[in-house]
Amino acid sequence: MLDLDGVLWGGTGAVQGSADAVAHLTGQGARMLYVTNNSARTRKAVAEKLMGLGFSAIKEEDVVTSGWAAAEYLASQQPPCRKAFVIGSPALVSELQARGIACVTEAGGGVSSEAEFAALELDAEVEAVVSGWDPAFTWSKLAVAAAYLQTGVPLIGTNPDCANSVAGRLMPENGAQLAALVAAAQVPPERQIIVGKPSPQLVETLVNKWSLVRERTIMVGDRIDTDIVFGNRAGIATALVLSGVASQVCAIVCVCVKNARTLSYLSAQARYAAIGRGKETKCVCARARASERARTLRRCSMLYEE
Ligand SMILES: [Mg+2]
Repeated sequence: MLDLDGVLWGGTGAVQGSADAVAHLTGQGARMLYVTNNSARTRKAVAEKLMGLGFSAIKEEDVVTSGWAAAEYLASQQPPCRKAFVIGSPALVSELQARGIACVTEAGGGVSSEAEFAALELDAEVEAVVSGWDPAFTWSKLAVAAAYLQTGVPLIGTNPDCANSVAGRLMPENGAQLAALVAAAQVPPERQIIVGKPSPQLVETLVNKWSLVRERTIMVGDRIDTDIVFGNRAGIATALVLSGVASQVCAIVCVCVKNARTLSYLSAQARYAAIGRGKETKCVCARARASERARTLRRCSMLYEE
């Protein structure tokens, strides 16, 4: 299972050698699944992008996007979700509609004042709010989504990534939108559902749908908090590559914390701190007591905020 951004492609095109590596492994008989938390492209568009970058024989059905995961999750509920309020890309809407889920979007029905919010008429058939990365995210979308969430429907997040590394800066991703939605509507944890990596439901979906043998599967990714946690939850081997978000220091933390079996508590903030403040993370060792690890990571966070 291969992550895409930071593993097969980066800001300027394919990661050097990645197309040859995939071709070699495919030639050896390995089956490839392309698993991305990006919901801004359909599976077909992802396959086409890979082909355009020099990867060969990429099939749409071997691509898993978090938009597809959202549609799969909602369609597999009992009873299946039939209508959702959606914040996200046209690709996300398209994946949901392909599974028979009608999509209500804010287009044409936004709000910009207390009076408009008070007069908002909600569609009573909406059974979920779905949030995927939306570069056109606005207060109006937040307000309408918050109104729906207060009716008690679940909040489906395509992916939890708070930010992506772009040109040396952190660019907000869907996790930041989700944080705003949770805060605005006071959504309790049991109604917050992440369907992309590292969701345990996605693990089960992939294992069952593709009949994966866990002992013979590996997850290759560039992020600890999504890719590596996902692999760990799936009970499969993982490989952290350094061509994307993770740095070498990050890899040290990953190995150490994994050995300590507490990987999931490594917060995104601490991880970014680890990237920027390498030396301070080296004492996060496998044999450190939990309290020492926590103290070190807190210190990383503080350094990051400075
Ligand atoms: Mg990635």
